Amino acid sequence: MTKMDNEHIYDAVIVGAGPAGLMLGRKLNEGDLHNFLIIESKNKVGEPLRCGEGIGCSEFSQFFPKKEYSFIANKVYSHDIIYEDLTRKFQSEFYQLDRPLFEKWLSEEIKDKIKLNVKCLDVTIYPEYALVLTDKGNIKAKVVALCHGNSYNIQKKFGMSIKNQLIIPCYGGIYKNYNLSKDKFYFIFDKYPGAMWVFPKDEKTANIGIGLYKHDINIKEFFNHLMKKYKIDAEMVSEYSGSFPASGPIKKTYSERLIACGNAAGFVFAGTGEGIYYALKSGEIAGEVLLECINKNKFSENELREYEKEWKKSFYPKLKAGIIFLDLLEIGYKFNKMKRMFGSPSQDELKGMILDGKVPYRAKVLWRLSKIFNLKNKKKIPLLFRLVYRLCKGFRIIK
Ligand SMILES: Cc1cc2nc3c(=O)[nH]c(=O)nc-3n(C[C@H](O)[C@H](O)[C@H](O)COP(=O)(O)OP(=O)(O)OC[C@H]3O[C@@H](n4cnc5c(N)ncnc54)[C@H](O)[C@@H]3O)c2cc1C
Repeated sequence: MTKMDNEHIYDAVIVGAGPAGLMLGRKLNEGDLHNFLIIESKNKVGEPLRCGEGIGCSEFSQFFPKKEYSFIANKVYSHDIIYEDLTRKFQSEFYQLDRPLFEKWLSEEIKDKIKLNVKCLDVTIYPEYALVLTDKGNIKAKVVALCHGNSYNIQKKFGMSIKNQLIIPCYGGIYKNYNLSKDKFYFIFDKYPGAMWVFPKDEKTANIGIGLYKHDINIKEFFNHLMKKYKIDAEMVSEYSGSFPASGPIKKTYSERLIACGNAAGFVFAGTGEGIYYALKSGEIAGEVLLECINKNKFSENELREYEKEWKKSFYPKLKAGIIFLDLLEIGYKFNKMKRMFGSPSQDELKGMILDGKVPYRAKVLWRLSKIFNLKNKKKIPLLFRLVYRLCKGFRIIK
């Protein structure tokens, strides 16, 4: 930072140039705000790739309605959800992005606002401004948006985190000479809680990876084992690792002169790890709220609370469905009931739960009971739980 930058007060500083930060930057730019800055710790936007790169077509089209973009690598029409020897299928259109290209494209119209190789170390709030401490000097801003992914150290002291955040480690890569269908996505559940994704990019190339909820096994070895078991033939071109949060939204996504978007706010569908849509949407909502605050020159908690109100209206039910989905998955694995639970929802229910945040009533009851009986922390299913569950069935509270 130059000395002048030290004195200058930006209207907004965005920490992180991922989908959330870039979308927010684009919104501020569209709102004719020019006194803002995005800081990014990496030396390139969009690289290295650490993602499966899949996103629902209808979600994506909310922001980018054209049928063709250079960064859309493929479109698929159906999903195969596999659990060992069982396969559930449903129709749904998804795009397979070239995510590095997508992020470069997103950054194009705001590239003069992005400062690369600048790492945010901390944020301090003063009555007149927020101070962003970086490895290149300090920056002042009226308001700061934390869009820096799932590391919660900076925001913890503002109560913008969640206790015991579950972070899911992932491993995968880009593969060539891929032997399965180009027209569908595959999700594979197997021995350990977690899932493998197989997302084709074209006839021969696929993005294949795994996220595991169990931390004490070698993820790479298990991934390679699944490649063989499910007869996925392909040669690795490049590999990645990464992680995503899976405990749902943080306790509070705003504080005085501060908001959090995307992964920094815990906005990921916990059951599948999808977070690109929520990063884009929260960036968009944050942009609208911040423009308003900057206009009024008001950055109190009261003003910024509007952001939380809006994202809750927009996508909270979907995130909640993701948490229920994940909790039931964990219980299914823990008590060896996966096969039964996997086969239980109808095609539409399965699709509704994964894609639209619609949780079937009986799944909600089961989830609620599992919370009351603290099933996740029990070694055996308590007798009383079985009894209550049977009574619910008997009285047709659930089918
Ligand atoms: C292996 C894997 C596969 C996934 N697959 C999918 C998928 O197929 N579909 C889907 O929808 N979602 C997927 N996700 C989730 C998705 O990638 C995230 O939810 C999404 O990237 C969140 O966007 P974001 O902008 O909030 O954060 P990020 O994409 O993490 O961007 C944060 C940016 O901030 C920068 N940064 C971090 N710390 C600092 C700092 N201190 N100072 C400055 N800059 C900083 C980072 O370098 C990064 O560029 C996957 C995640 C993983 C790990």
